[in-house]
Amino acid sequence: DSVINRIAAGEIIQRPSSALKELLENSLDAGSTSIKITVKDGGMKLLQIQDNGCGIRKEDLPVLAQRFTTSKISSFEDLQSLQTYGFRGEALASISYVSNLSVITKTKADECAWKATYEDGVLISKDGSPAAPKPCAGNDGTTIMAENLFYNTPARLSALRSSSEEYSRILDVVTKYAVHNPRVSFSCKKAGSPTPELSTPSASSVKDAIGITYGQTIAKALLHVQIPLPEEAPHAESMDVDEEKRWSADIYCTNPNYQAKKLVLLLFINHRLVESTRIRKAVEAVYVGILPKGMSPFIYVSLQIDPHAVDVNVHPTKREVHFLDEEIIIQRVSDAIHDALIDENE
Ligand code: ADP
Ligand code: MG
Repeated sequence: DSVINRIAAGEIIQRPSSALKELLENSLDAGSTSIKITVKDGGMKLLQIQDNGCGIRKEDLPVLAQRFTTSKISSFEDLQSLQTYGFRGEALASISYVSNLSVITKTKADECAWKATYEDGVLISKDGSPAAPKPCAGNDGTTIMAENLFYNTPARLSALRSSSEEYSRILDVVTKYAVHNPRVSFSCKKAGSPTPELSTPSASSVKDAIGITYGQTIAKALLHVQIPLPEEAPHAESMDVDEEKRWSADIYCTNPNYQAKKLVLLLFINHRLVESTRIRKAVEAVYVGILPKGMSPFIYVSLQIDPHAVDVNVHPTKREVHFLDEEIIIQRVSDAIHDALIDENE
């Protein structure tokens, strides 16, 4: 049974950076304004994420790492219109199946912090006492530690790259979330290292955050393109509002003065970092004939799509995302970038 759970967990958590992505999204969901990440051995020895969010109530700790424990769905209607990142309550459970997971957390209402340790989805005790959260010192917020990732799934472990490559994947994920959440300050460092490899102060805009993380050369070349929601129909009842799906886009793309060897695309759908080969190809194609051959832009796209239109049947950790009206949306996004580049050239 636990072998099957372990294999299933390995499908969800494929490498340290995918575990970190889930933990980051939880910290953001918890309303954190500061998120500090510490990594040992590319995340294989330790992934630690400390936030100053709402914390977890002590009474919720015993079931925290059980599958389908989530505070984010309270009704079937919610399930159909998922606004937050996570929706299945599977991330912490999965991490507990493939690592040594512990949590220190404190809500504002708590007098002290509580520590809990998990194995295979259940709260465990490390000293022979009955398994229960233990009181400890700690600030408001939550610290999650995942140690010895994949210690019990050798196949997963051997599929990983070097710890420096796994660490750069982690940095990449944190950097992208830092751009998308400019008001949150992020830091990411290797354990024992005096200075973090990434440290972002809270910035006032996505553009500023791009400057801080990817550099001022890129930030200076950015064009801001927005596709607003369709106008609110004054007599919505009398019209077939379903015809026009509700979506909007916020885009930053570099002007033709900026050229790089490789495309950098940050794509967020409903605040979740995702991959879409179709969007990647479409936005890169806009620059063909505008940039010299072989040169690519930097592009940030944040799509807000009616949650009903995002395919929730695709597992949240599948990198490729699909949604209704994909073709129309991709076309409009490409056209908007194209128009902005043409305006810029005039
Ligand atoms: P999901 O995010 O899909 O709800 P997870 O397994 O990722 O499932 O997390 C389970 C639950 O644990 C969340 O619904 C949330 O209530 C709580 N949780 C996890 N991480 C944090 C955190 N950093 N701060 C506050 N609550 C958290
Ligand atoms: Mg989650």
